Amino acid sequence: MAEITVKDVKTGFIVDTPGGAKAYRTGDWRSQRPVYDQDRCVKCGVCYLFCPDSAIKIKEDGYVEVDEFYCKGCGICAKECWTGAFEMKPLGEEKK
Ligand code: SF4
Ligand code: SF4
Repeated sequence: MAEITVKDVKTGFIVDTPGGAKAYRTGDWRSQRPVYDQDRCVKCGVCYLFCPDSAIKIKEDGYVEVDEFYCKGCGICAKECWTGAFEMKPLGEEKK
């Protein structure tokens, strides 16, 4: 079998300007997602600070929402939220 080198791999995305990756969906390959329970949220903003993908937005009312376009399902928000407002669930089991 012929060996494949990096030169044989087609170019996927090109990010040629700072912040240019914002145009690409980075949340498509996640296997789980954070399910948010607003009743447990105290609007502290910790999840917003810790999300490595800036996928958590703070709404006008102070509660938060996850932007599925960018969320990679890493679970950091669920780990850092000290009130347990996020629960990570496998895709397809979010409603259970
Ligand atoms: S860390 Fe938890 S309590 Fe704080 S804003 Fe995020 S979801 Fe709400
Ligand atoms: S699971 Fe990870 S990427 Fe998604 S909102 Fe939480 S911290 Fe951000």
